[in-house]
Amino acid sequence: MTIETLAIEGLSTPVSRIGLGTWAIGGWMWGGTDEKESIAVIRRALDSGINLIDTAPVYGFGASEEIVGKALADGYRHKAVIATKVALEWRDGKVFRNSTPERIRHEVEDTLRRLRIDYIDLYQVHWPDSLVPIEETAAVLNDLRKEGKVLALGVSNFSTQQMDVFRRGAPLSTAQPPYNLFERDIDGDVLPYVKQHGLVALAYGALCRGLLAGRIDVNTKFGGDDLRLHDPKFLTPRRGQYVAAVKALDVFARETFGKSVLALAVRWVLDRGPTIALWGARRPAQLDGIEEVFGWRLDANAFAQIDSIVDRYVKDPVGPEFMAPPQRVQVA
Ligand code: NAP
Repeated sequence: MTIETLAIEGLSTPVSRIGLGTWAIGGWMWGGTDEKESIAVIRRALDSGINLIDTAPVYGFGASEEIVGKALADGYRHKAVIATKVALEWRDGKVFRNSTPERIRHEVEDTLRRLRIDYIDLYQVHWPDSLVPIEETAAVLNDLRKEGKVLALGVSNFSTQQMDVFRRGAPLSTAQPPYNLFERDIDGDVLPYVKQHGLVALAYGALCRGLLAGRIDVNTKFGGDDLRLHDPKFLTPRRGQYVAAVKALDVFARETFGKSVLALAVRWVLDRGPTIALWGARRPAQLDGIEEVFGWRLDANAFAQIDSIVDRYVKDPVGPEFMAPPQRVQVA
């Protein structure tokens, strides 16, 4: 299998166009985690040439970074491009934004310790914090870059205006927005911006939280604190529309390309621009379809047919906005 790669400004290693997403590996909001399976899936990704691993301190309140750190031991660090994030704080299980320089300075040390590494390849601001000027956040991140603690900088969930401000204070290499064939708000702004400024988009939720893997139906049950218990796409009756669309997309993918809907969904992200699809997986078998993604492309006709299937079945679309964490309450 030849894995497609692309260059990210600031990194000397070409980066695989599929990145392993490790939010679910942290357990929190995904109904728990299994450490052995998690380490196995990270190593399976690295062994098969997927070198980008995306994590964050808030995933499992440190648990995801800890598990990635354990997976990187025994000689795996040199195979990996580690993307993590900064600027979400948590207290008593509640998460809020905090991009102050003090918070960032504190977090970077925690992250390096949990990941058991001495530098971070790509360091991304997780969510914009309206209480802190973006220039201040960019400046401290640029200092960390100059100190060698991080190699490249990215932002996540930023608007184009916010990226403009960030870029005045520090070199910006990547944006990380939500993006999949059901959630495509960035087509109108962030994706053109990424193209115009030579950035790379790390598309999160490439499988739409599992929907586009093709195994979820209207009866699938989610347990514990799984976010899909509250995700408006997964609630009745709307879930029926999305499941019907996935089934029709699966038929289209198999008849036209001899591929699964999962491969079609990842290919869709990759053929939209300078993108990397973040694929959330927490068991090695969930990566079985990776080789199906490479070696073919979607053309304009295929994109149009996909659009018409989505429009035919999804009459009441909804985005991923429910995931946005709150701002801090300003203390006088
Ligand atoms: P996703 O990749 O769209 O979906 C992940 C889920 O899909 C998995 O947990 C799994 O669910 C299911 N899945 C994966 N492979 C499968 C397969 N072969 N067969 C059946 N089901 C399969 O969602 P995501 O994890 O939210 O997004 C990907 C990554 O993007 C995250 O891990 C994180 O790194 C990043 N992200 C970033 C932000 C941000 O604000 N920057 C927000 C969200 C996500 P089950 O294990 O339950 O079966």
